[in-house]
Amino acid sequence: MQTGRVLLISGILLAAALAQEPSATRRPGRVLTGWGGGKPDEVVPQAAAIGFSELIIHHDNAAVFARTIELGRQHGIDVYAWMYLGDLPAWKKAFPDAEAPMQVMSAAEQSALAALTADTSLGKSGYQYGGEPVRAGEVLMTPLLCLHDPRVLEAFTRQIDEILAVPGTAGIALDYVGYQNYHTCYCPTSTRLLEAYQAEHPALPANVARQRFSLESLVEFNRRLAAHAYARRPEAKVITHIYPVYLPEPLYGNRLDLDVCGQTAAWYFDPLWSEQKIRAYARVIAGEAKRYHARPEGAAMIGYYNAPGKFTVKSPERLRMELQAILDSGCTRVQVCSFGDVLRTPEAAAVFREFFGPAATP
Ligand SMILES: [Zn+2]
Repeated sequence: MQTGRVLLISGILLAAALAQEPSATRRPGRVLTGWGGGKPDEVVPQAAAIGFSELIIHHDNAAVFARTIELGRQHGIDVYAWMYLGDLPAWKKAFPDAEAPMQVMSAAEQSALAALTADTSLGKSGYQYGGEPVRAGEVLMTPLLCLHDPRVLEAFTRQIDEILAVPGTAGIALDYVGYQNYHTCYCPTSTRLLEAYQAEHPALPANVARQRFSLESLVEFNRRLAAHAYARRPEAKVITHIYPVYLPEPLYGNRLDLDVCGQTAAWYFDPLWSEQKIRAYARVIAGEAKRYHARPEGAAMIGYYNAPGKFTVKSPERLRMELQAILDSGCTRVQVCSFGDVLRTPEAAAVFREFFGPAATP
């Protein structure tokens, strides 16, 4: 009787503690962040049970965004708004009467894009969809706005204002902030700014000047977006995933002065990355996160799609190897895209739960 009552009271206290302290259901010291979408009432509780601490979703549906935030608060999950440089509706909203200033590629890169578009083979002959290419001459198939056009910065700072006005938003998550051809932009605005850069750096060979200008302006675009968010709401967080790849320096993400920089440690497609490469990248992602700035934490990004017949689906053993390699390398933050694919694949969800959930193994 006495024991039963103690157990009952303990159970009530435990339930109350769990309700007030949702992080108790997660592995301390580890952060799992998911990019994706879905019905809030389905995905948020499931994500919490697996051990997700953060979800990144689109905010264009205000009701879905608000509901996700509300459920996230109940389940101890921070919700971020997904922003991306291919967001033409965001441009249209800010500048309805102006033509969108898209990035421009060289004639050869345009031909590569046309060939990729026409390629109907499975996996498009090894195309990496914006990850590190395995074949020469890849470009991103998604058109991107030119980050050198000041109006693009203006459009996105307005979007940040809208997002941060939503009560309970943790912050913004940046995606597709890069170059469609993985290294530069040839539009008239970029060309004019590059010429000014060359005039300021007359000793640099033309190719070096282009590369430095392209990298420095990419870093600066990120800095201005993040600085705008921090000025607007000091407690807001800015996180990102470096994508598409920037070929001259794939792991440049630690140059960005924002809260969390996700960099790819294990990409989606065949040939899947070797354990050696995953370990090497994760060591840099975590170990050199503060090389340029005190603020950033590094996060290792894992690609996961469950689309059999379209792409190879990573096995549970494969996912376990990738996560273990990342954690062994000192990286305790992991981003996965898409979290919806993880949630609807029980064997994948179980692996993530092993590493991030309440019963996480050391
Ligand atoms: Zn441009």
